[in-house]
Amino acid sequence: MLFTKTQKLQSKLEENLFRNQQVGLVPTMGALHSGHLSLIGRAEEKCDVVVVSIFVNPTQFNSSKDLEKYPRNLENDLEMVQKTFPNTLVFAPSVEEIYGEELKTEKFDFGRITIYMEGQFRTGHFNGVGTVVKRLLQIVNPHFAFFGEKDFQQLRVIERMVEITKLPVHIIGCKTERESNGLAKSSRNELLSPVLKEKAGIIYRCLQMAKKEVYKSSIPEIKTKIKQDINALPKFELEYFEIADVQELIPTESIQPNMRYRAFIAVFVNQVRLIDNLALNY
Ligand code: AMP
Repeated sequence: MLFTKTQKLQSKLEENLFRNQQVGLVPTMGALHSGHLSLIGRAEEKCDVVVVSIFVNPTQFNSSKDLEKYPRNLENDLEMVQKTFPNTLVFAPSVEEIYGEELKTEKFDFGRITIYMEGQFRTGHFNGVGTVVKRLLQIVNPHFAFFGEKDFQQLRVIERMVEITKLPVHIIGCKTERESNGLAKSSRNELLSPVLKEKAGIIYRCLQMAKKEVYKSSIPEIKTKIKQDINALPKFELEYFEIADVQELIPTESIQPNMRYRAFIAVFVNQVRLIDNLALNY
């Protein structure tokens, strides 16, 4: 069932709240794939009513070209959701419905977790993400909201935003779905040719190499090797590769005992920006 207006969605949700049912929210930017469906699946298992939002949020893009070329296909998305999860409610609001007249971004104090990686290379991105997710949480008022580990820094940012704002919601992190060559499923993969999509499997292989080598080689050695391997492929350019602790997301050059680390990577493939990450020692 499709909703484009906040009020209509809220009236529908009130019926469920009245019956004391658990509500789940899965925020997405559409161009849905099996990664999104796995989040909806988790939500359907855990909740009585699930809302999937489809909204390409302009304030989280730091390049107008990137926003323009972001894939959009609401008809396909609706068909996909209806086929697999016929009871899921789809909320696809307009930009005005979410922001009103003015595209204003709220400034959050996320602390150290947004200094590096996506925070460093996409200025203002996480304030945009925080703004839209806060708004969606206020509209839907869910008991649970589901986010992918594929965007691990985003997941940590949302957890922090919920702490700051004290919104009464539990955030659930979900595993990354991958193509058969290991490439993390992403709406942006649609922008790649089949050949480049196949070659982009190197991104996951680099993460796996880091996992294998993390206690054998030094982190600078791992970084140099990954940079060489990625940049050796035509049309591929490494933006960053970092190993960072999962708590503060501060890149490190050496592994400390009793700390949990992930490897994080961002690569341009023919100007399409792909990100991924992998747990290294837990
Ligand atoms: P997006 O539409 O890219 O903003 O993603 C919407 C949600 O789906 C976010 O919580 C993402 O982390 C999650 N997601 C994106 N790709 C994947 C994937 N391959 N596996 C699992 N979750 C994903």
